[in-house]
Formats: sequence, C-alpha cells, structure tokens
Amino acid sequence: MLTHRRLFGTNGIRGVVNKELTPELATKIGIAIGTFFKKGTLIVGFDARTSSPMLAKAVISGLTATGCNILFSGMAPTPALQYAVKTHKVHGGVIITASHNPPQYNGIKVVWKDGIELSRQQEIKIEKIFFEEKFRFAEWSNLGNLCMFHGLIDSYIEAIKTHVNASKITKKGYHIVVDAANSVGNLAVPKLLRDLGCKVTTINGNIDGTFPGRTPEPRPENLKQLASIVKAIGADLGVAYDGDADRAIFVDEHGEIYWGDKTFALVEKFFLKDNPGEKIVTPVSSSTLVKDIADMYGGELVWTKVGSVTVSQTMKKFRIKLGGEENGGIFYAPHQSVRDGAMTTALILDIMAKTGEKLSKLLDELPKYSIKKSKVNCPEELKTKTLERLIEQTRGLNISTIDGVKIWLKDKSSILIRPSGTEPIYRLYAEAKNPEKAHQLINKYTKKLKKIIANLKS
Ligand code: MG
Repeated sequence: MLTHRRLFGTNGIRGVVNKELTPELATKIGIAIGTFFKKGTLIVGFDARTSSPMLAKAVISGLTATGCNILFSGMAPTPALQYAVKTHKVHGGVIITASHNPPQYNGIKVVWKDGIELSRQQEIKIEKIFFEEKFRFAEWSNLGNLCMFHGLIDSYIEAIKTHVNASKITKKGYHIVVDAANSVGNLAVPKLLRDLGCKVTTINGNIDGTFPGRTPEPRPENLKQLASIVKAIGADLGVAYDGDADRAIFVDEHGEIYWGDKTFALVEKFFLKDNPGEKIVTPVSSSTLVKDIADMYGGELVWTKVGSVTVSQTMKKFRIKLGGEENGGIFYAPHQSVRDGAMTTALILDIMAKTGEKLSKLLDELPKYSIKKSKVNCPEELKTKTLERLIEQTRGLNISTIDGVKIWLKDKSSILIRPSGTEPIYRLYAEAKNPEKAHQLINKYTKKLKKIIANLKS
C-alpha cells in the first residue's frame, strides 16, 4: 500500500508489517513527524494488533530523537486518544493502528492539536521532510522524555456521558450485546454502557491482535454471529466496532443489521429537531436518505469527497456540529469533530431512551431506498481519462463531480461511479425507491463504463 513518494493514504500510513511497514521505516517516520512538530509534546497510543507495541516503540524512538516529549497511553481506542490530545492541550498525537484492515497490517495516524487527523497539506510537509531527509535531531542533552499517561480512557468515557441524558438511559436498563472484534473498543464501550445502566454481554471481548473472532471490518457479512446472539438472548440492541473503535454498526432487537447511513440519518433527524437550520456533512457515497432527512427537518446538507479526514476538516472549516459516513462513522462536534464509535453508541441510546422506541421502529420510520452495487476493472493509468469521458457523456444531467461522478435523477434515484483509491477498479453504487429501478440503473452504467474503458484500451 505504500506508494512511491507518498507516505499517507486516505487514513494515515498503512502497510503489511515487516514487509512494507518495518521498525526501521517507523523510526524514520517518527523522526519526520517529530521534525514537523518541532519539539512539542505528543500523546502516543496503539491498537490491539500484535505489531502495535513494536511499531509504537520505533515511532517513539524517532520522535524523542527530535526532542519531542511523549505521553504514552499504551493501548487505546483512536477516538479516546484524539479526545485526550484535544483536551490536554498538547501539540498533537500519534496512534499506531490499521483500523479495519486484516491483522497482518498496521499503520500510523497523526493528529493535530485539535485531535483531528492532519490535513493533506500538513501530511505533504511530513512527506517532504521524510523523502528529502531534512531531519532535525536534538542534542544528546535535549532528547525528548517519555512519561506514561494513565486515565485517558476513563476521562473519555466521562466526557461522552455529559452529552446524553444519562439518567433517562439508565432508567431503561437496556441489554446490549457488544462485538468489538477482539480489539480496543472493549477497553471503553462495556464500561461506558454499564455506567449508563445497561446490562452488557460481550462477544469477541478479549483483546487478541490476531482477531480470531471476526475480521475487524464491521460489514454486515462479518456480523452474523452478533445478529443471531442479539436475537437469541432477547437483547435490545447489538453494536459492532471496527479495529480502532471509531466506527459503530448497529443490530436491532430482531437481529437485523443496518448499514451506517441509516443510523446516521436517525441521529441527524433528532439532532435537527433540536437544532433546526444547522448544516450537516456527509460524503457523496452516503444515501439520499441523509439529504431527505436534512430537507424534512430544516437542515442544510454539505456533500464532500469520501474520507473521514475530509469530513472532519469540512466540519472544522465551517464550524459544523454533525457529520456522518455510510460506513458507521459519526462525528459529533460538541464532543469532538472526529468519528467516534462509543459516542455514536451513546447518541443512539439517547434517542431510544428519549422516544421510548426500539431501534427497529425508529429506523422503519425513515424513508427507504434499494441499493445495488457493482465494480468494473480499470487499469490505474486509464482512471482519469475514464472519468473525463464519463463526465462528457453525462452532460445535461444533474451531476456532482466532488468525488467520481454522482448522478441524481428526477425520481429520487441516484448512482455514484467512483475510482477506487486502492484497487484498479471503478465502484458503482445505485440507489432507488424500488429494487427494479436500482437494478436497471446499475446495469445501464456498468455497461456504459465498460464501453468507455474498452474504447480507451483500443
Ligand atoms: Mg477505524
């Protein structure tokens, strides 16, 4: 995944451990990050992966060599570390995590003093230091020091509780099944939920960096065990997290799994009821449902490119309080402007307690869409030309070119056609009021795209 002359991908630096991401490379990246921060104080933590302690120590070696002081939290959910960076007024933070990737991967995420991941411009500065080796080493007498940082997760949990009606939730005595994929979500969520008066059943609750229970990507196909347990034991709710616990996917009391833009639309609805006229941020990959809710409850929707950092940066720029992604990331700025799985869970419980309704009923009341997906192979070198041709051929239609091409049709159906950032393919997502129309739309544009690519090849 590590590409030439570029270190950072859409979510930090990622690679296979000891192949692409070695301790030597991590140390050098630590030196580059330390040079960029110019002797500041940084909080460093890591996720549950087997390689995380090794890589954290390598990054810390590099950072302290430049004179940066380190507050070392040990294992922590990404949003807990981001919250600590923001509230302790340090200069930034580094977390060793590969989020939802398989166990052989790891990565390095760098956050600014507000807890938000660095902007692309800031990443470019680190890449320049790294590739040009413009490192600033400290004198032996000025090396950074290393202190343990205790209590980070407890203060994160306390902060989340202040944003919901804790006594109302407590009175309900919900029974919740938590599946944190044998990773760091287990360090925060069960405690938060017990503090909120819930009965908690955990699955994949032990920390194990080989992720024996399920892969750390909380896609519906990986959550069948969670769904069946929720139903079997008669729990009120199930919730699954990704490997670093910034995304949450929910299961209702019948064992039905919902993709993230549905639960985001629910949070959006109740947020707008209390805050009419506010702006909401979401990437173009989200369902039209998010726009419908904004229109129905007097909000204004801001579409962005796909990627959590873009959502956070857009919220920061325009002082927007709520953002969300289709993959289960919800950004609630009164807490922090980054996606946060535990905060998302508390918001959903707050809505359930406030309305006295089950999740199935709350989600059933939202507008419904049918979704169809497909993908088309496209060599890397043809991706840009393909997009240009596609835009030419969709002229006259209501389109957005924020990220790929999104076409909105009059009958509320839409299709997003977008080159993958990591694979030689184009992805297509069609959405319509009925499955036939979604099917028709995906077929039409899959054919069109294949034809464009074939013509470009010939
Ligand atoms: Mg994540």
